[in-house]
Amino acid sequence: MSSGLAQRRRTAREAALTRAVDDGLLGPQSPLIGLLDVDGVLAAVDALHQAFDGPAPVQHTFAAKACGLVPVLRLLAEAGMGCEVASPGELEEALAAGFTVDRLVFDSPAKTVEELEFALAHGIAINLDNFQELARVDRLLTGRPAAGPVGLRVNPQVGAGAIGAMSTATSTSKFGVALRDPGAVEAVVEAFARRPWLNRLHAHVGSQGCPLPLIAQGIRAAYELAEQINTTLGRRQVTGLDIGGGLPVDFGSDEDRPTYAEYVAELRAAVPDLFDGRYTLVTEFGRSLLAKSGTIASLVEYTKSAGGRRIAVTHAGAQVATRTVFMPDAWPLRVGVFDAAGRPKQGPTEVMDIAGPCCFAGDLTAVGRELPAVEPGDVVALYDTGAYYFSSHFSYNSLPRPAVYGYRVDAAGQVRFAPVRDAQTLREVVEESGAAHVDALVALLPGNGSLPGDGSDRSAEATA
Ligand SMILES: *Cc1c(COP(=O)(O)O)cnc(C)c1O
Repeated sequence: MSSGLAQRRRTAREAALTRAVDDGLLGPQSPLIGLLDVDGVLAAVDALHQAFDGPAPVQHTFAAKACGLVPVLRLLAEAGMGCEVASPGELEEALAAGFTVDRLVFDSPAKTVEELEFALAHGIAINLDNFQELARVDRLLTGRPAAGPVGLRVNPQVGAGAIGAMSTATSTSKFGVALRDPGAVEAVVEAFARRPWLNRLHAHVGSQGCPLPLIAQGIRAAYELAEQINTTLGRRQVTGLDIGGGLPVDFGSDEDRPTYAEYVAELRAAVPDLFDGRYTLVTEFGRSLLAKSGTIASLVEYTKSAGGRRIAVTHAGAQVATRTVFMPDAWPLRVGVFDAAGRPKQGPTEVMDIAGPCCFAGDLTAVGRELPAVEPGDVVALYDTGAYYFSSHFSYNSLPRPAVYGYRVDAAGQVRFAPVRDAQTLREVVEESGAAHVDALVALLPGNGSLPGDGSDRSAEATA
């Protein structure tokens, strides 16, 4: 049984694919595109807000790393979200999208002095990662209060989920203050005692692959620490709990599983008082808001056989599906096959590999899948790729970033597209590969009048 939401998503996706081929958005001149279902994104935001509705004030932020495309961030701002940023680039993207500073949370694990100064001066909420960073903020504030909320990230060390690289609460994780290490809790309480401006705790327990009870257990540890700090200090100093993101996504179907409502039910069972309104809650969901609304679509360039295996060569590989290609067991994707007119393909199936354009043998987005027989000119779609796929480009083989389009389908089935990101031009690829310094290395060679310190312009440029 599939839910109405899943049904709508599938119907809209198929309509958009057909129309993209009809309109030539996907074709020989642009054989790879990303598509984003605008109504799907809005439905996810809505489900999130409804699930957390209650007495506790909640600020929902979107984790920009999941999809830092500016029009997407703008849409989310319009829908009432805040934005969690973890690098100067993400911060600039969020500001360009129109997020006001009071709706931002800055979380980078490697914030520079300059970045901290910016956040502190503009009242952007920050979560500090470790005791050295706390000391750095002490020096920057020199007695002044911070303009915005300041939190401390803690690692409840509750253990790993199914994917090691996605598990942030292992005993040796690089994130936050490791709470179960000897003396850590006492040190955190002491840190709050000495800093009245420190008023939040932050725990992002893990992402894809982390079971809900594990996440809930980590949030419970952060909640209990907040209670301990406030009780010990005899004042309500911790006023906010940032519970991170990490709701896993079902990459095996069109369903939203688990739902935000199921997550909140799990949290209510594990930490009943979390929602009583004494703490402002902050969330930082990424993947679960965007993944199921995104599709990567590529033309099939060639089909062939090798050692008895059928292979379809497409333009979507490691550059847009990096995790899937390098960790295929952890990040399998569903594949859809469409004919040259962009209509879902029926008919006899065959077992095949779906390959990308990158020059290494492992560049496969699916292996040994039974799919409708594919011919050159058909379209292969990779589903659930709205987060961390086309928005997290890997520039292997100097492959350009593909265009991304948002779409809406009205009641009559009419598809409207909006550009989200233009395809990167080859000129831009060359420019970002150092074209401005084309002669710089040759100029270092003997006989080119540019030994260090000879004062020539080239050497000045090369050593600048
Ligand atoms: C990546 C990240 C998130 C978002 O995780 P999702 O699994 O995409 O929901 C939230 N908070 C922090 C600190 C993160 O690093």
